[in-house]
Amino acid sequence: IIILGIESSCDDTSAAIIKNETILSNEIAGQKVHEAYGGVVPELASRAHQQNILPVVDAAIKNAKINKEDIDAIAFTRGPGLLGSLIVGTSFAKSFALGLNIPIIEVNHMHGHVLAHFIDEIENEEIKEKPSFPFICLTVSGGHTQIVLVRDFLEMEVVGTTKDDAAGEAFDKTAKLLGLPYPGGPLIDKYANLGNPDAFKFTKPEMPDFNYSFSGLKSNVLQFLQRETKKDKDFVQHNLNDICASLQKTIIDILFDKLIKATKHFDINEVAIAGGVSANSGIRKRLTEEGEKLKWKTYIPKFEYCTDNAAMIAITGRFHYLNGNFADQSVSPMARLKI
Ligand code: ATP
Ligand code: FE
Repeated sequence: IIILGIESSCDDTSAAIIKNETILSNEIAGQKVHEAYGGVVPELASRAHQQNILPVVDAAIKNAKINKEDIDAIAFTRGPGLLGSLIVGTSFAKSFALGLNIPIIEVNHMHGHVLAHFIDEIENEEIKEKPSFPFICLTVSGGHTQIVLVRDFLEMEVVGTTKDDAAGEAFDKTAKLLGLPYPGGPLIDKYANLGNPDAFKFTKPEMPDFNYSFSGLKSNVLQFLQRETKKDKDFVQHNLNDICASLQKTIIDILFDKLIKATKHFDINEVAIAGGVSANSGIRKRLTEEGEKLKWKTYIPKFEYCTDNAAMIAITGRFHYLNGNFADQSVSPMARLKI
């Protein structure tokens, strides 16, 4: 079975071809236009998707060395995401499928982040260990922070979530306070590796159950910087590495406190991370360390399957295909689609 996956939920236009569970191509066109604005501008994102989608799909088909007639179904991201961006991918998927006379499959982007763990890079990849059910997945991305109890490929329950900012926003918004360009997450990661994580202390929220909150951290960092720059106007420049290391440690501590609590509560020792923020070197290291301490089996996605990509949409599409879940031609995107 060959599936074309299409992802256009935020600011990356991506198309991928999967043959059974093996990825044959995964093309991604990022959008530089947003850098100047310090965040994604929805209107500009839709326009860029519109320009990128055809060449990206064409490249995915060519690089997979297949013909478009070989495709059995088209999977697309229905949501969650920016409506204008989702409309481009959804409309394209519908028209192309109509032209090829093949079915369409709607995919939840957050399912995609979790199921990225099941992508093979070479046929019948046996060396790669995949999570076994049930497992717990900490999905940390630009718009979400979820502790997901994954019972089966398409049977997932969000048992904890953020009540305000996502982990990615915690990175990006605090990075902005430090004067770093968007998206600041990867830069905090880079500077954190050169700094002392215990140099500064930031507040951690009190949240019930397995839930998160990151807006308090942002205010805390703002006040901290205002206070310190009064004493030394170049405080940030003089302490950038230490601030980033301390900030990153705080965010990771917050994430892992609840993750550990959830694994104990559900008595599960198969633990995965997913989403753009799971590219963070500190989070990856911490998962391995906690795994050794708490006897977890841990799963970390390859970098290219952490941030938005169509390979994860294609593999999720495959599981829907096997279940016979096809979408109607009148399907429309949903910005706030829930798991
Ligand atoms: P969602 O999946 O919730 O709709 P999204 O698709 O926009 O959101 P992703 O592409 O999965 O989000 O992730 C983007 C986020 O990941 C950004 O906030 C970015 O700063 C963050 N990120 C990427 N790499 C790193 C890193 N190394 N360290 C910290 N954060 C990172
Ligand atoms: Fe995403």
